[in-house]
Amino acid sequence: MERCIDGVCSGIFGSAVFSDTVMQERLPKPIYKKLKKTIKEGLPLDPEVAEVVACVMKDWAVEIGATHFTHWFQPLTGVTAEKHDSFLTPTGDGKAIMEFSGKELIKGEPDASSFPSGGLRATFEARGYTAWDCTSPAFVKDKTLYIPTAFCSYNGEALDLKTPLLRSMEALSKQAIRILRLFGDTTTKRVVTTLGPEQEYFLVDKELFMKRKDLIYTGRTLFGAKPPKGQELEDHYFGILKEKVSRFMHDLDEELWKLGVSAKTKHNEVAPAQHELAPMFATTNIATDHNQLTMEIMKKVADRHGLACLLHEKPFAGVNGSGKHNNWSISTDDGRNLLDPGTTPLDNAQFLIFLVAVIKAVDEYADLLRFSVATAGNDHRLGANEAPPAIMSIFLGDELTSVIEQIETGVVKNNGTSRTLEIGVSTLPVLPKDNTDRNRTSPFAFTGNKFEFRSVGSSQSIATPNFIINTIVAEALSQIADRLENAGDFRAEVNAVVKEIISKHKRIIFNGNNYSEEWVAEAERRGLPNLRTTVDAIPALIAEKNIRVLEKHGVLNRAEIYSRYEICLENYIKTIRIEALTMIEMASRQILPATLSYVRKVADTVASLRAADADYSCVKEELDELVTLTSGLKAAIDKLDQKIKEADASEGDSLSHARAYKDVIIPQMNELRAVADRLETIVDASLWPIPTYGDLLFGV
Ligand code: ADP
Ligand code: MG
Repeated sequence: MERCIDGVCSGIFGSAVFSDTVMQERLPKPIYKKLKKTIKEGLPLDPEVAEVVACVMKDWAVEIGATHFTHWFQPLTGVTAEKHDSFLTPTGDGKAIMEFSGKELIKGEPDASSFPSGGLRATFEARGYTAWDCTSPAFVKDKTLYIPTAFCSYNGEALDLKTPLLRSMEALSKQAIRILRLFGDTTTKRVVTTLGPEQEYFLVDKELFMKRKDLIYTGRTLFGAKPPKGQELEDHYFGILKEKVSRFMHDLDEELWKLGVSAKTKHNEVAPAQHELAPMFATTNIATDHNQLTMEIMKKVADRHGLACLLHEKPFAGVNGSGKHNNWSISTDDGRNLLDPGTTPLDNAQFLIFLVAVIKAVDEYADLLRFSVATAGNDHRLGANEAPPAIMSIFLGDELTSVIEQIETGVVKNNGTSRTLEIGVSTLPVLPKDNTDRNRTSPFAFTGNKFEFRSVGSSQSIATPNFIINTIVAEALSQIADRLENAGDFRAEVNAVVKEIISKHKRIIFNGNNYSEEWVAEAERRGLPNLRTTVDAIPALIAEKNIRVLEKHGVLNRAEIYSRYEICLENYIKTIRIEALTMIEMASRQILPATLSYVRKVADTVASLRAADADYSCVKEELDELVTLTSGLKAAIDKLDQKIKEADASEGDSLSHARAYKDVIIPQMNELRAVADRLETIVDASLWPIPTYGDLLFGV
């Protein structure tokens, strides 16, 4: 669902996109019609259509400067991948022509055997295939035609993030249509999920960035004492944009608009140097592609402006980290939002069915939802009083919660008189679309006509959280449809289903402060899972009930699930290992030498004072502390090094390996950091080898 931005930029917007308008202008009418039908109904593409589309697409791309094409895909590394092929085909007479066939458009065979497959591909069939996702438009960037694709193995197993997302959209469409038919909708052919991901990020000075190995290798600072000023004055949030930042944002908007990404809102965020960009929502798979593009272009444009863009969930300790608010809804192919309450009793009844389906889904699969945002980076954020906790719950707001309660009891409480609130007969009270005092601490908040999943990490692909949400909601809808389709009295059954789901799953609804200690205790009483870390959350993926739901809806099969499980654990281990090794390198080759220079300086001072018969006691005190800390630093480095060796040498499966990293390596990293950060506050600033938090956070 493409939206256009009006105004001055409308000329730029989508100028590098093989958009609907371009297709309509350039494709022969029958071909255009067939392609549109394929896209709208999610059908397989006719090879003859592909042949024509390829040719027209190539001509268009060449006209705007493209010389190459690439099948653009999203392997399980979480970042996008591409291999460029030239359109040039030698003709044998020393000349060449520009060619691009339907086959090349539909299917690619990158020799992509080095991408993680979690054991899905044996070496002899290492080849992966990419297949055009014709529901997401192609575009030209850096003289290359980008074709959004899904990436599968020889046997059709998903090797990427896009495939399960597309499958889950299919599953949800199928089940949602069953519900729509029950409510008398005979025309809707396809239901899609819509998505507006708000992207948070940090900008720091590029030169300073280049002086920090931790930022270069891991995307976050592994050392750094707290500066005198952080975010306590709250003077950055929504504050005036600095000129350099503003220039960056303008440039970024323009680059994104060209690619059809409808970047809409931009502002400063809570932490110093932190910002946010929100696009207009789009169909989930397109929004996912666009979010990947957004992250990539942010980095590129930042570089051009002498800045570095940090997308890590927690680049700096002590100030807020970054997330991605995943605004999600369900819509018919003609743009009717199914999470919009509506004004007639019938609309309300249908709305309530979709609403309770989400409630049921989140309660039954809270663990799977938690898994979908589990990464080493996000562990620093979730539950750290700046982002929702690891406990999944839903915020409905007071009005809707009261409606839900009234439905459950069957009695309308207000107005003195009590009457029955019967779904499908009574109209719901008008619900404010944007509740201004809405709860920012909730992981999964209803915001008037959509849900906002706030636990998603800033650097992660939004494909995983969304294929999980789509799948679990599809399952809830399918169970509801099973019942309603067999009901004698439809209206009575709708009432019964909604009531039952509310009674059974209301424990997942929580409108209070999710950051509080009381909620942790309360959630435990309610029996809600609290999977605190990534390592606790990953096994949820292979819980039997979760395998069952993913298999049932054809989103992932058992082998694909196990491969993802392995890859997630490996990613975790690798991430922490790189961080630990980076710490060792920085501590032993930068911090320790700097500290030793300072120790010598102070020791020399002590010696000179003593020789001059002056009072050297306070300098001696400083020297003693320095020597103690320096020995502590050295010991902590050696200990971390030793522990990594032990963790890697220990026998056991990936899960126990990951546990060792969480339980042994991370605490040791914290110990090393504590000593180094203390030293930073004592050592001569001119000797300190890396830019400080103050430099980075206030340096732009
Ligand atoms: P906030 O107040 O949380 O900063 P907004 O209300 O401005 O956010 O909207 C945030 C995001 O929600 C935007 O990207 C917007 O496009 C998206 N959004 C709005 N409606 C829908 C919808 N029906 N489906 C998905 N996303 C939506
Ligand atoms: Mg938001």
